[in-house]
Formats: sequence, structure tokens, C-alpha cells
Amino acid sequence: MKKQLYVLQDILGTNQKIAREIKAACEDKGVLVLNLMSSPGAGKTALLEKLAERLKNRYKIAVIEGDIETERDAERIRAKGVPAWQITTGGACHLEAKMIARILPLVEADIDFLFIENVGNLVCPASYELGERIRVVLLSTPEGDDKPKKYPKAFSTADVLVLSKADLLPYLPFDLERAKKEALDLNPRLRIFVLSALTGEGLDDFIDFLVDARSALSPADA
Ligand code: MG
Ligand code: ZN
Repeated sequence: MKKQLYVLQDILGTNQKIAREIKAACEDKGVLVLNLMSSPGAGKTALLEKLAERLKNRYKIAVIEGDIETERDAERIRAKGVPAWQITTGGACHLEAKMIARILPLVEADIDFLFIENVGNLVCPASYELGERIRVVLLSTPEGDDKPKKYPKAFSTADVLVLSKADLLPYLPFDLERAKKEALDLNPRLRIFVLSALTGEGLDDFIDFLVDARSALSPADA
């Protein structure tokens, strides 16, 4: 048992070292890296499609997609005219920094935003930094407002909470204030956005936040 614990600590330590190198290299170049985490079907790819549409004329963006199988999400992003790389983990339920490190040399160096969509899973992705400056956790309204305290690490390690599929709120027993309160109890510094990728409501505020975060990274050429 003890030996297993040491092995896990070693894996996480190595991952963190690679992640810190990615973070430093990207921030030096003025690239804002975001890691999007959620359970499957919370709307990560739908949000990225909307962000691609809205940001691509003003900024250079790139997307790395993580899934267990298929190229589907990368194809959806490419259809928006944005370069996307698909990582298929072949069964692994989270991305690791070394996977991102293998893709980075293929990504143009002068991009403004690099979005990493993690494998749909609210559990172990939270333990693996990928070099992100901003960690975004999505919780969609059909999943229920009680999830933050059931999956605390995803919410306590995130910088931003996106409550997605807000267009469904009139039809669901989802208590927005409860979800916010649970998340803030775990993590008082969370920035919270309520939005719908489908209708576009709430998207402007989130985009303003992203643009400001990018500017804070490299004020000189913002
Ligand atoms: Mg997806
Ligand atoms: Zn995993």
C-alpha cells in the first residue's frame, strides 16, 4: 500500500514539473493557457465552438482536445476555422502534462489563447496540472446543483466556474444560488459565470474576462 502511494506521488511530482515548464514557456510568449474540466456532456466543446467564433477574428487561438477515443471534438473546432489537435488517451481518464508537451511544438508560438479540453471526468483531471494559468470547471444545469461538494477537488482547485446550459434553468430544479454557494464554500476565490453556449447569454462577460486575463499576461502587446 505504502509503495503504491510513493509511486502515485512520483507520477504527480513528475507531472507537476512538466506542467510548470509548460506554464513558464507559454507565459513568456504571452500565451494564455486554459484547462477546461467537467463531466462528459457539460458543454466544454460547445463553449469552445462559440469562443472560436467570437475570438478568432481578433486573436490567434488554438485548441487541444482530450478524449478517450475519436477525433470528433477536434473536428468540431477545426470546422470553426481554428487549429485543433486531438489527444486520444486510449482509456486513460485524464490528460497529463507530458501529453501537452508533445503537442506544443506543433502549435504556432505567437498564439494568444491555448484552450485545453480535458477528458470528461470530474475526478482525476483535478490532480494533474497541464501548464494552465486558468483552470475552468464547468457544471451544467442538468447535472444538478449538488455536485460541487460531491466532487470538491475539481471546484477547489479551479479559478473559474462556468455554470453552463443556463437556457435550461426554467425547466430544471437547478438552484443557481445553491450551486454558487457550494462552490464558493469550497473555494472563495472562484470567479463564476452563468452562460449558455446555445443562446449566447452570459457569453460576453466570459469573453471580457478571458481578454482581460490575456492582457494581464502581456500588457505590452495586448
Ligand atoms: Mg468535448
Ligand atoms: Zn484519470
